[in-house]
Amino acid sequence: MSRIAFFPGSFDPITKGHEDIVRRAIPMYDEIIVALGVNSSKNYMFSFEQRFKWIEDTFKDCTNIKVISYEGLTIDACKKHNAKFILRGLRNSNDYEYEKSIAMMNQALALDIETVYLNTRPELSAISSTIIRDIIKNQGDSAAFLASGVQL
Ligand code: ADP
Repeated sequence: MSRIAFFPGSFDPITKGHEDIVRRAIPMYDEIIVALGVNSSKNYMFSFEQRFKWIEDTFKDCTNIKVISYEGLTIDACKKHNAKFILRGLRNSNDYEYEKSIAMMNQALALDIETVYLNTRPELSAISSTIIRDIIKNQGDSAAFLASGVQL
């Protein structure tokens, strides 16, 4: 049975931090699904098409990474794609507390799906899509923080 991990997020936009977590997880899994979550009640800075293309371009050199989008519960999307692992990145204790509650709820809903965390590399731990959006809104230079496939 192949080991499939699901890396969900809104990737608005995808950052060096996201890219690093996925690339470091490559040796751990047969396949990683980078999954763009669609939430119709959320306002995004970048369009769905734009965010999806940037993710695809970031991982175009990786044969075992698939990019998909999904709506609804993450565990339902995992089941649909036969993913038994949810991959998450941790920057700090706030991320940990937040991720822990979601992971516990997901475990209550789907016992056979495990959430797996990788710690961020220290030099990438301050990068967040929220701060990047703020830099872009204020005409700052965010290039150093964006994933390799992002062209602004
Ligand atoms: P969400 O909408 O679920 O918050 P994000 O796109 O912000 O999705 O993030 C997806 C995942 O990437 C989360 O696990 C988040 O903690 C992780 N992540 C975000 N930024 C970084 C970073 N700089 N280093 C490591 N992991 C990160």
